[in-house]
Amino acid sequence: MRYRGRFAPSPTGPLHAGSLVAALASWLDAKAHQGTWLVRIEDVDGPRCSLEAARTQLAQLQACNLFSDEPVTWQSQRTSHYQAALTRLREQHAVYACRCSRADISKALLALGVAPERHRDMPYPGSCRGLSLPYQSGLSVRFKVQPGMKSWRDRRLGEQAQNLVTAVGDFVLLRSDGLWAYQLAVVVDDTDQGITHVVRGEDLADNTPRQIQLQQALGFPTPEYLHTPLVLATDGEKLSKQNGALSVNVATPELALGALQSAASHLQLPIHPANTCAQALAQWVQPWRERWGMSRHA
Ligand code: GLU
Repeated sequence: MRYRGRFAPSPTGPLHAGSLVAALASWLDAKAHQGTWLVRIEDVDGPRCSLEAARTQLAQLQACNLFSDEPVTWQSQRTSHYQAALTRLREQHAVYACRCSRADISKALLALGVAPERHRDMPYPGSCRGLSLPYQSGLSVRFKVQPGMKSWRDRRLGEQAQNLVTAVGDFVLLRSDGLWAYQLAVVVDDTDQGITHVVRGEDLADNTPRQIQLQQALGFPTPEYLHTPLVLATDGEKLSKQNGALSVNVATPELALGALQSAASHLQLPIHPANTCAQALAQWVQPWRERWGMSRHA
């Protein structure tokens, strides 16, 4: 199988230390397998994304000498593909329209005795599943998850399992405001771009079973996954704008090299003297193979 990997940032702000780790890891894994590395801008959530942020992210990658091997793709230009996938799922009765607001969902969960968890979306209890509501604007469209444990293997985390019914419930593919959900866009794009290996931050690991079920419903192949260790803020929480995730400063070649070296040391790669980002990147390909191993399918 010809290795194809990607880095898929959401342009909600400039790249921070955590996103650079994911960019570097996905680039190194692709190069370690003599594969192709793509950059895809995940600007599907229009109101939270901006062209300016996307341009900044691309400039930051360029300053670090991380270049997409093929033209950069933009999710905002791919909506007809998401629509086609949704139409197929509708024909299969794998989805349904839902009119629940967040308040409706928490009320329904409360009635079932399920307490909301911090930093977790509320699992959808399926209130609209049997209602056959008409598909119309203002309603969301949800995917019917299969009961039982979903197991999958991560190259770093090993065997993983999630019960989609209790962890997330039927999840949204098309939002009530008409925006496409990340889960559908990512699965359609990974398939259309022939992605064989996904390397991304561990915060996304628990999205994987949802994506695998969607791939299976659509008859798409499942890539291999490797979720990289998270860069945490000093308060131990995930880096975010709220706790001061700083933009990676690449204003000079020295700063760009320093940023890459921090990302590499987070990935437990050795830091040797280097003059340029290109030189440092080339030095890490073999250590990457030794530290993180090679995929069995490439
Ligand atoms: N766009 C997602 C993010 O920036 C990442 C998607 C992915 O790698 O699957 O969090």
